[in-house]
Amino acid sequence: MLKNVLVFSLSGTELISRANAVAENTVLVTAAGALTGADTVYTYPAESSVALQLKAIADVAAELQPELVLCEATASGRLVAGYLAALLKTNSLPDVQTLEITDAGLESTRMVYGGSFVKAESVPYPAVAIVGGGVLLGDENLKAGETKELSGTVEGLELVSVSESGVSMGNLAGAKRVVCVGRGLGSADNLPLVDELAGLLDAEIGCTRPAAEEENWYPKNRYIGISGVMLKSKMYLGLGVSGQMQHMIGTRSCGSIFAVNKLEGAAIVDEADYTLVGNVNTALPAIIEKLK
Ligand SMILES: Cc1cc2nc3c(=O)[nH]c(=O)nc-3n(C[C@H](O)[C@H](O)[C@H](O)COP(=O)(O)OP(=O)(O)OC[C@H]3O[C@@H](n4cnc5c(N)ncnc54)[C@H](O)[C@@H]3O)c2cc1C
Repeated sequence: MLKNVLVFSLSGTELISRANAVAENTVLVTAAGALTGADTVYTYPAESSVALQLKAIADVAAELQPELVLCEATASGRLVAGYLAALLKTNSLPDVQTLEITDAGLESTRMVYGGSFVKAESVPYPAVAIVGGGVLLGDENLKAGETKELSGTVEGLELVSVSESGVSMGNLAGAKRVVCVGRGLGSADNLPLVDELAGLLDAEIGCTRPAAEEENWYPKNRYIGISGVMLKSKMYLGLGVSGQMQHMIGTRSCGSIFAVNKLEGAAIVDEADYTLVGNVNTALPAIIEKLK
């Protein structure tokens, strides 16, 4: 059993549940109203930015001296992980796929070289791990601790504006069904149809990395794969998804895989249980019609 574990998370209870299972004392840093569940929860104003809170979070960590820091695999989580790793004089382990707490230290695995190899690492405490959504999914194990407020500032850094992504953020990692948008969807004009299909299937929407990072159709924490969310859904439907290994790694624990792709030779055809070979622009309205 570890003494102190610090978690940084803005969504989902899986990191804090695991921390509570392995540590006597847990501290969660999150945005106000986002999460609870640790012995002590430090919240910062939801309209603030994590960048402004780094010094305040570091002060919490310096006092706590955690053996383990778990950060979600988002831009904010990576920022906190790097900052706290420097403070704790260690390095951060990116995108860990498995994680085991031993007396000697943290044992973890992660994909390297674009998913071609699995790297196993044992590091002594203190350790800092960045963990993707779905990796530590298990029984919920939350505590009703006290909440304290953080109100950090950083000299020379000013928050100019905050804008909503406009996409509802459900629990992708824990979803039973997932509709995944790939670049083959072609245009943002088709996104309302994806919403409609997901609604009919009672599914969460995920996407490929290029659909998030290049097309900006969805926020970056919606992409599935080696550097994104690892799914555990019973059903996955890929729309215009090529099926490259770095993406499909995130679907390994899925039940049935369905795909719509215009190319019979697309990699996803080999991975899918059922493929509709055709144009997603005609297939999508037809599937919606059929479901209705
Ligand atoms: C280190 C590293 C890490 C990575 N991590 C991730 C990750 O975590 N997640 C991830 O998703 N990717 C990741 N990638 C990128 C990954 O390798 C692929 O490039 C990416 O998944 C491809 O996205 P895509 O299928 O949306 O786009 P494309 O590769 O552009 O594929 C589009 C597909 O849509 C089909 N299509 C096109 N038009 C239509 C149409 N009208 N109707 C039907 N089908 C159509 C095409 O036949 C094609 O198969 C990573 C890459 C690297 C190098």
